Amino acid sequence: MVRIHPVLPAIVLLAQAVCPVSAQAQPYSSAEAVTCPGVAATVLEANASDLSDVCAGAASALAFLKTHGVTPTEPVAFEVTTRIPREAGPTAAGCYIEERRRVYLVPYTSFRKNKSWFNVPIDRRLYRALAAHEAAHAVSACNFKVPNPTIQAKEYLAYVTMFSVMPAELRAQALRSTKTQGFESLDRFTPLLYSFDPMRFGAEAYRHFSEVSDQTALIRDLLAGRVLRD
Ligand SMILES: [Zn+2]
Repeated sequence: MVRIHPVLPAIVLLAQAVCPVSAQAQPYSSAEAVTCPGVAATVLEANASDLSDVCAGAASALAFLKTHGVTPTEPVAFEVTTRIPREAGPTAAGCYIEERRRVYLVPYTSFRKNKSWFNVPIDRRLYRALAAHEAAHAVSACNFKVPNPTIQAKEYLAYVTMFSVMPAELRAQALRSTKTQGFESLDRFTPLLYSFDPMRFGAEAYRHFSEVSDQTALIRDLLAGRVLRD
């Protein structure tokens, strides 16, 4: 999930992902949605510009995860809507609802009203980053080997994916303007930090990840529930 303003110290507890068991079990009829060209993702209700950004964000996230051996079990299903499901909270710009296996994103025009994210003025590049973050949630949901992965495990991977696929200068700008300490231990990534300061959590996650020598092994351990567990 991506919250723009960390105003609510609430942790959204969502049920275990209902992962596909057959090709028929799609979150919505593919006839209603537009398939992203060359990417395992579909988008519902987006205008042309938003569609292009959502597809680009999904493509970059899927490519990043693939380099670490993580592949989608089904196309990522996006819906662009001004009505983000209530369980994501009032400040959410995007979320992945596991029971529905669907990503919800606000349209860019709504996202832009937040003015900034990571203290960077909002532009289309950040909208693509938002889509990448939620795509990472969708892909990882069905790749966890444990029934109830922790919020810190899910968000660590989503933020690491998002920062990794950002243009380098945008990433540098976002990291520079977010106060981070540089965690050496994964124990520092707590549900409390995520709840109170999701931006810092995200920036710390990327900083930590960028220092890890075997990133693929870390992601494998994370999905297996060996790290970032309760
Ligand atoms: Zn998230």
